[in-house]
Amino acid sequence: MSLDEHDIYLVGGAVRDQLLGLPVKDRDYVVVGATPEEMAEAGFLPVGKDFPVFLHPESKDEYALARTERKTAKGYHGFAFNTSAEVTLEDDLARRDLTINAMAMTADGQLVDPYGGQQDIENKQLRHVSPAFAEDPVRVLRVARFMSRLAHLGFSVHPDTLQLMRQLVNDGEIEALVAERVWQEIKSSLNQETPSAFFETLRACGALRIILPEIDCLYGIPQTKMWHPEVDTGIHAMLAIDQAKNLDNDVAFAVMVHDLGKGITPQEVLPSHRGHEAAGVPLVKAVCRRFKVPNHYKKLAVLVCRWHLLAHTVMELKPETVEKLFARLDGYRQPKLVEKFIQACQADATGRWGEAFKRYPQANYLRNLFKAARNVDKQPLFAAGLQGRELGDAIRQLRVTAIQSKKQQLITSTS
Ligand code: ATP
Ligand code: MG
Repeated sequence: MSLDEHDIYLVGGAVRDQLLGLPVKDRDYVVVGATPEEMAEAGFLPVGKDFPVFLHPESKDEYALARTERKTAKGYHGFAFNTSAEVTLEDDLARRDLTINAMAMTADGQLVDPYGGQQDIENKQLRHVSPAFAEDPVRVLRVARFMSRLAHLGFSVHPDTLQLMRQLVNDGEIEALVAERVWQEIKSSLNQETPSAFFETLRACGALRIILPEIDCLYGIPQTKMWHPEVDTGIHAMLAIDQAKNLDNDVAFAVMVHDLGKGITPQEVLPSHRGHEAAGVPLVKAVCRRFKVPNHYKKLAVLVCRWHLLAHTVMELKPETVEKLFARLDGYRQPKLVEKFIQACQADATGRWGEAFKRYPQANYLRNLFKAARNVDKQPLFAAGLQGRELGDAIRQLRVTAIQSKKQQLITSTS
């Protein structure tokens, strides 16, 4: 048998994004009035663990049976579901988080919008569908992520919804979030149109203090005005994060955590942050451990945290120091790391008030020096039979010399 076309609706993100004029990623459907047996008979493949979700045999789009849910325990597994064939489309839409996510569309393009989603798109409001919003802490993360995606269009969180987010925080629900899920939302926010809006939204409801206290505490900590016209370290972190939005995800993450050390600078030395790079390393490692951040993200983040000042000051560095920097970055084995490091440092340098379009000549300077160091001809050293430590020292010396002459060349070409 086949399913009656009239009982299938496009729902959620696809409807929302279509109305917003944004590219539609994945299409989710709701099937009303069917049983799991009928779905299986129609050739759909069951995939849901907690509740019945099916994949279309050809398109592989997700088809879920209309359902209602009831909170039974803390955390987002703490729900009981009802997927009986009596559940209506309106019932199903009522359990969704935001009005803009609670619209459905028929196959011939008619909108079903019982909770005013279209109006909220017009008003640019992220608004909860019902008080049941406060039953699932994942929604706090989702709203923050939607802000990172929609803030540039003028969207904001409705004050009543923000209140429910605060309530979730005060009820201790944020602690029940699993690390993997939090990481997934952080990661995806970093490459949205306004990544900072993710963190600002979490901060506005008090969730940032629980999820990322290392970033939350940066607000209110001053930096030297000469280097940081924005003064506030939290603001710098946000500006830098936004500068990194088009970079690879691991680079954007490195930018996100590059100044965590400034959060533990002793009061009496402020607004100076001498030594914040080394101080930040254990904090970066702790964040990575907490969210089970992939190792290659962690490696780059630690390197950027530890060595970013050397990029900013590279024009003044001795060739030996530059060579050592490339070695520390593991650049001779993984040249890409040097490029990623440079991009992260540039986001830091331009992530300051009024400096978004500032030139960062250090970037190409570093690229040129690295190229020179990498391309030295080691053949004569092998031919001379050098080995072990002696060989290592000789290669290093070759690289230092290459950096030295490249520096000279760059100075003459720009003077
Ligand atoms: P994206 O563009 O990231 O896919 P989305 O809104 O489509 O956004 P999905 O995770 O694909 O997000 O979920 C599909 C729909 O399911 C949502 O639009 C929303 O209606 C509903 N939904 C998802 N997660 C939740 C949740 N935690 N609470 C309530 N409704 C949810
Ligand atoms: Mg979706």
